[in-house]
Order: sequence, then structure tokens, then C-alpha cells
Amino acid sequence: MPSMFPVLDMPQRLLMGAGPCNVHPRVLRAMACDVIGQMDPEMTACMDETAELYRQVFCTKNRHTLLVDGTARAAIEAALVSLVTPGMKVLVLRIGRFGLLLTEIVERAGGIVCPVDVPWGEVVQVENVKAAIEEHEPSLLVTVHGDTSTTTAQPLQAIGELCKEHGILFYVDATATLGGMPLLVDAWNIDVATGGLQKCLGGPPGSAPITMSERAVKAIMARRHDEAGIRGTAPQGDGPVIRSNYFDLAMIINYWSAERINHHTEATSMLYAAREAAQIALEEGLDARFLRHRKAGAAVAAGIRAMGLEVYGDDALRMSNVTGVWVPEGCDANRVRTLLRTEFEIEIVSSFGPLTGKIWRIGAMGVNAAKHKILLTLAAFEAVLAGENVPVVRGAGIDAARAAWEAQQ
Ligand SMILES: *Cc1c(COP(=O)(O)O)cnc(C)c1O
Repeated sequence: MPSMFPVLDMPQRLLMGAGPCNVHPRVLRAMACDVIGQMDPEMTACMDETAELYRQVFCTKNRHTLLVDGTARAAIEAALVSLVTPGMKVLVLRIGRFGLLLTEIVERAGGIVCPVDVPWGEVVQVENVKAAIEEHEPSLLVTVHGDTSTTTAQPLQAIGELCKEHGILFYVDATATLGGMPLLVDAWNIDVATGGLQKCLGGPPGSAPITMSERAVKAIMARRHDEAGIRGTAPQGDGPVIRSNYFDLAMIINYWSAERINHHTEATSMLYAAREAAQIALEEGLDARFLRHRKAGAAVAAGIRAMGLEVYGDDALRMSNVTGVWVPEGCDANRVRTLLRTEFEIEIVSSFGPLTGKIWRIGAMGVNAAKHKILLTLAAFEAVLAGENVPVVRGAGIDAARAAWEAQQ
């Protein structure tokens, strides 16, 4: 007998962490559609439709808007290995853990990192960006929009203007905000932005939307992207070779273009998921969706405060979809999370680096940015904390959350 396991049967858990969150049932249904051939006209039409949907999600007219197959990090890596050439100066704005990820990838791609740091919980001020641009004269500026590790959102518009003025390419990791907070790629002069499905778009991890300006595509296409010369028809630049095949955006652009020059096999079921997730977001309307996430964030924060706990970070800078909560003195943060999971089937998460064990993070994203899911989470959280002898004001959190949901405009 081969060794076997029971039929896969995962628990139905409410995912109120920093992603993934629960997947919209329509997305799961879309993923059950039959797999068809890679160059099938229905398949390539589905790719074109998906590109059109993501142009709207990213608020851009960028022709080159497509999916990178992999989790959000795949698109981050594709963007950076395709933009960064050896010796290139790259200004990296770091407001949390994901700024460190950008640093690492830029370094691996041979770029010279010029970091701009702020204490965790703060954002980079535009005067400091200006000064750093003047000091380092970078070719590329990269940053994170909403950094889930610190629950902080970096304002982007003024930075986009600076980049445009100085002729610097501007890359933004918008994984955690796409579909949940406004991200105006064209209006904010963002050259390349990337996302993922499993945060505010309510899909599963595994597909990463990306959009690229003509300026960015020109820079990417100017690089060599066919080391072995096996794809003779693909146009070649004579710049330094892109040091990845899978994440070579020039090749991926050619695959998504009308020429359909074969690269990887587009991840069929994830394409269906990405298409459906975008379709649902646009049916709801982006503004309505942003409001729903704002209501969710306001309800969580009000509930936490009314309970007698403290919210992490500055209200003016916080993301609407993930809220940090200071762990009270003497409370075992991991035990609270475990009890929430085992007794209530609810997941919340800790954080990283200097915030490990110091804060919990409660996310309300995609289908989970819903009033009842927040009320259930707060009620369970309160019960667990009271059981752990944390002095919480019983009942007040729920009342405050309900009122804040209604009051938020
Ligand atoms: C979640 C997240 C990522 C990582 O996404 P993966 O899908 O795990 O690769 C990257 N950046 C930010 C800002 C995130 O919140």
C-alpha cells in the first residue's frame, strides 16, 4: 500500500490577518473553469480582457499591463531585475519590512542602493526625497505604497512629480493597497506598479498584476533579453542582459503582445482568478470599494480603542485595511492568537523585526472588509483578552465599531 492521507479538507477560517484573506466565492468558481491551450484564441482573448480590467484597477492607460505568474513578490522581482542594471543608483524609500525586500532585490540585481530610512510607523517626507535625489542622482526610485509590516501608507503623488521632474523612473510595490486604497498610476506619474491578489482584491495568492509606462518599457526593451539566441524573432536591445529568464519583463511583454512570442505557460487557473477578482472590484466600483475598506479600518480602530487598547501608528498615515494593536504589558501575544484560532477559527497576525511580539495586526481586506466579520473578530478578541486577564471594557468595542462603520464617509 502506498502511504496515503485523508481527502484534503481545510478548516473554514476567518482570515483577518495581513493576507491572504478569504477568497471571493466567484473567484473560486472561476478557477474551476476548464484549462484550455495556451495559444487557444479563447485563452488569448481572456488574457487581453484581463489586461483591460487591470488598466482600470491601476487607473492607467498603460498598454503594457499584464500578469506575472507567482505571488506578489514575483512581480516585484520581475520589475526590479528588468529595470536595475549593474552599477545603477537606486533610491529606496524604506518605511518597513517590504522596503528591506526591495533593497535586497535591487542589490541582487547589481544596483547600488541609496536608502532613505524613517523610524517604523512614519513615512518619508517629500523634502527628504528631494534632498536624496539631489545628493545621489539616482536613475530609479523604488518604494512601497502600503507597508503591511508597519500598517503605514506612503503618500506617492509628490514623489511621482519629483521623479518626473528629474527624469527618474518610479517603481511602487502596491501589493497591499491595490483595490483597497486609491492608487492612481497615471495621475501620480508611477512608471511601474505591481500588486497581488490575496490582499484587497480578494483572490488567492499566485498571480501578480503589473503595469508599465512607455518610458519604463523603453528602458526594459533596450536590454538584451535572449542570451541563448533561441528566440530569433524577438526584438533585442544591446543594453546589459536581464539576469533572469522567468522574470524578464521584455519576454513577458512579448508573450502578452499580439505577437504572442512564447515564454512560460500562462498560469491558466490563476488567470481566471485574476480576471474574476478585477471584474468583481470594478463591478463594485473602485470608490465604493475604497470606502468599504475605510469603513472597515475605522471600525477596527474604534473598536480597539473603546475596548481600552491602543492602536499602533499615526491615524493620518495608517492604511485603511490593516490595523496594528499594541500588545498590553504582560499579555502573551502568541497565546491570544492561538486561542482566537483554536476557539473562534479566526486568524490575526503578529509583525516583523522591531515590532515582533509588540503589536498584533488585524486586517480587513477584500471580502473580509465586511461589518459582520469585523464585529465577530472584535467580539472574539475581547473574550480572549478578558480570559487572559487583560482589563478590557466589555461590550464597548462592538458598539464603537458599529457606530464608526456607519459614520465613516
Ligand atoms: C504581502 C506583501 C508582499 C508579498 O507578497 P507575496 O504575495 O507574499 O509575494 C509584498 N509587498 C507588500 C507591501 C505586501 O503587503
